[in-house]
Amino acid sequence: MADGSRRPGLVDQHGRIKHKLRLSLTDRCNFRCRYCMPEQPQWIPKQQFLKRAELLALVTEFVHLGIRNIRLTGGEPLLRPDLAGIVADLNTLRPLGLERISMTTNGSRLAEALPGLRRAGLDDLNISLDSVDAQRFRNMTGAELAPVMAGIDAAVALGVPFKLNTVLVRGHNEQDILPLTDWALRGGMPLRFIEYMPLDAPGRWQADAVVSEQELLDTLRTRYQVERLPRSEDPATLYTLDGDYRVGVISTISNPFCSSCDRLRLTVRGELYTCLFARQGTDLAGPMRSGQPMSDVVQQIARAVWNKEAGYAAHRTPVERPITMHTLGG
Ligand code: SAM
Ligand code: SF4
Repeated sequence: MADGSRRPGLVDQHGRIKHKLRLSLTDRCNFRCRYCMPEQPQWIPKQQFLKRAELLALVTEFVHLGIRNIRLTGGEPLLRPDLAGIVADLNTLRPLGLERISMTTNGSRLAEALPGLRRAGLDDLNISLDSVDAQRFRNMTGAELAPVMAGIDAAVALGVPFKLNTVLVRGHNEQDILPLTDWALRGGMPLRFIEYMPLDAPGRWQADAVVSEQELLDTLRTRYQVERLPRSEDPATLYTLDGDYRVGVISTISNPFCSSCDRLRLTVRGELYTCLFARQGTDLAGPMRSGQPMSDVVQQIARAVWNKEAGYAAHRTPVERPITMHTLGG
């Protein structure tokens, strides 16, 4: 069969069923993380952004097609003024089968926004944190650490489940592995290390800037008893430290999890990317705005998903394309 338009749910030609959708709500960000933002970002004109009603219309179709988990991302999703309204809209999709509404954030504006987001239906968070040292944090992100810490405190105080995400870049924050882990372990906060991926700006990423899973484990073993847990559906490989505290490692570069990938990505201008490393997306906003029936849009979604390629594991080289991580959403 040449396409997946007549198949139930969303399945690709490699048999991977899609249950997770990442929605990028803006390409703007108040941080300048060295592994993410190009020096001269080409911003998407705001009039091209999907409006709340358009987002809801598209996501409704994805949920009908079997999407169970939605993760809001960006850019920085907290910069979107209608964020609580978007969460409330998505919350109405639970009777159709939506199970989780999550958000990945730099945390800097979380303290003030979180009570409203929680009331609107947000379930959980990933908070990016590349260092607990203010100077190194500034060097990694171009931003201040204190507001992020306030955001983490707010999540703890409100009882909102969260994980901390750390991208390691050699020469900049590998010395944070132990201080960050000690700090997260003391607070009982789940922590995941992410290998630096070649998605920042064409030509900027260097293979030797990646701190590999193996190197990370070697560092952790200088202080902790580290045991590997059996691999689950989670893209992170989980390890216990000294018995019960868990650390995850997302090793896209040294150990890609492409063969079990169940994710899709929708950009703020309504393009469907079936892989973080895909060279191009499928425009869904254009057909929807030009009045094509949603059944046609659904067919385009199914076809794009069916044609999803094997992924980074198959070629293991940086992708040359204009869209970078802050537009695609991580
Ligand atoms: N602004 C939010 C944040 O930083 O959490 C959400 C968007 S950000 C693009 C989503 C995730 O992608 C973050 O955890 C970030 O650390 C990660 N990320 C960005 N660029 C990356 C890269 N080149 N390699 C690995 N992870 C990256
Ligand atoms: Fe902004 Fe997140 Fe990219 Fe950092 S990783 S520049 S916080 S979008």
